[in-house]
Amino acid sequence: MSGTYLGMPSFPRAAAAATRDGTLRGNLRHATHTIRDKRARAVAELADWPRLRAAAAAIKERTLRHLDHYLVQTEAAVTAAGGTVHWAADAAEANRIVTRLVRATGETEVLKVKSMTTQEIGLNEALGRAGITACETDLAELIVQLGEDRPSHILVPAIHRNRAEIRDIFRARMADWGRPAPDGLGDNPTELAEAARLHLREKFLRAKVAISGANFMVAETGTLVVVESEGNGRMCLTLPETLISVVGIEKVVPTWRDLGVFLQLLPRSSTAERMNPYTSMWTGTAETAETAETAETAETAAEARAAAEARAAAEARPGARAGTRTGTETRAEAGARAGGADGPRAFHLVLLDNGRTDTLADTVGRQALRCIRCSACLNVCPVYERAGGHAYGSPYPGPIGAILTPQLRGTESELDASLPFASSLCGACYEVCPVAIDIPEVLVHLRERVAEGGIVTRGGKKAVIRPARGHAAERAAMRAARWTLDHPAALRTAQRIASRTRRLHPRRLPGPGRAWTGTRALPEVPPESFRDWWARTRGQGSPE
Ligand code: SF4
Repeated sequence: MSGTYLGMPSFPRAAAAATRDGTLRGNLRHATHTIRDKRARAVAELADWPRLRAAAAAIKERTLRHLDHYLVQTEAAVTAAGGTVHWAADAAEANRIVTRLVRATGETEVLKVKSMTTQEIGLNEALGRAGITACETDLAELIVQLGEDRPSHILVPAIHRNRAEIRDIFRARMADWGRPAPDGLGDNPTELAEAARLHLREKFLRAKVAISGANFMVAETGTLVVVESEGNGRMCLTLPETLISVVGIEKVVPTWRDLGVFLQLLPRSSTAERMNPYTSMWTGTAETAETAETAETAETAAEARAAAEARAAAEARPGARAGTRTGTETRAEAGARAGGADGPRAFHLVLLDNGRTDTLADTVGRQALRCIRCSACLNVCPVYERAGGHAYGSPYPGPIGAILTPQLRGTESELDASLPFASSLCGACYEVCPVAIDIPEVLVHLRERVAEGGIVTRGGKKAVIRPARGHAAERAAMRAARWTLDHPAALRTAQRIASRTRRLHPRRLPGPGRAWTGTRALPEVPPESFRDWWARTRGQGSPE
């Protein structure tokens, strides 16, 4: 993943620092509670939500089981539509491919649509090293970029910032990247949005190359789908001549019918909207689309141009309603007006693995690949709400980050080994997940991997990992507990000793156990075990 996360401290240390930041906690609490309440209302409107959820989980599971087939189908469809498909095994290869493609255009500035996959591979930094400036166009990503910050939420990357902080960032940094902030810019949301709009508009109009991710890829037609709320994505996807999309291989769905399920689930789960404001879809290049459309309809460019001219003349006549055709203009007509079909002339799809096939090999952990990045699990997580997104040391924060990052990156580093423990296992994330990922199940599975080591798949090959350092006491305690629970006589003896010595028990554990009792008291041992009480009373009367 991104080099910007290298050297991050383990989750407990980063979270301890974050929880002392009162402003951060206030911002997060306000934002997550607002989004989660709206989401709950939006979901409650659909009586068949549980069935939609089950359908989505089943589609993703089936697709992941036959991923090789659907990826080859996608490649064939994209190629037939005039695009070029590149396969990237890891972040370094993906960055090399994208850098080469941008260099081939001769451009030194590219526009970005919000994309977690490109954050995962550290694309902006890689392009920067090659002398290419990547400009973020999503409002929240723009705030993060101008503030030289890191995203802290999947959907709202600048969730940790309040309005006053954003105003200060715009005033201080916009001029370094292009059009400066308007004089006297206040912290009113409308003013801030207008400042961003003016700043970005001139970039949209001069850009020749754009880079995007995708929320979904439809295998049967090779169509890519981006779901967003601001319209910046639509500008990036249609105005530049070259479009490069970097997409994780798990984003494929087999058919348009399958896509329909996710387009119902995603807006309600993420922004609590019934329907997404901007859903952009593109298949190959504009030139191929133009050729195909011409062949299909036998409508030549000249005929289309003539029809457009006749329509313009009719609209220019007195009494005609100007602009009434705009919303229903066909692609051929729009193409004729603009001198060809709209959209990029060159399209490249970079299919990224970067640990995904290794994750797929894990029968428990692979369900993390179902994720559609709605962020519902973040907004209900008590740990995320207090620690914030930066503590996860990855572009994927919150519960999904705690199970996805250690699988994509492995658990060798102190940070990655700590992530499966960044949870209270309350289960709220599973309850809201629209694709029914059992996050607590995967967390426990990964904790076992960290504590016990074992066989994993790395780079497509089986590898044995050793237990992570720092879990020796926990491992010894769990082994002792297992042995005792397996031997009833020993369990009985241990319970009686614990009951008789209960007044001597400390309320805080010493040594490595201190981490556990630092924030909670040990439960009191009862004077008599349940078994002894039952043997004595047969259930009559209450325990001592
Ligand atoms: S794990 Fe589920 S709830 Fe969390 S972001 Fe992914 S799809 Fe949404």
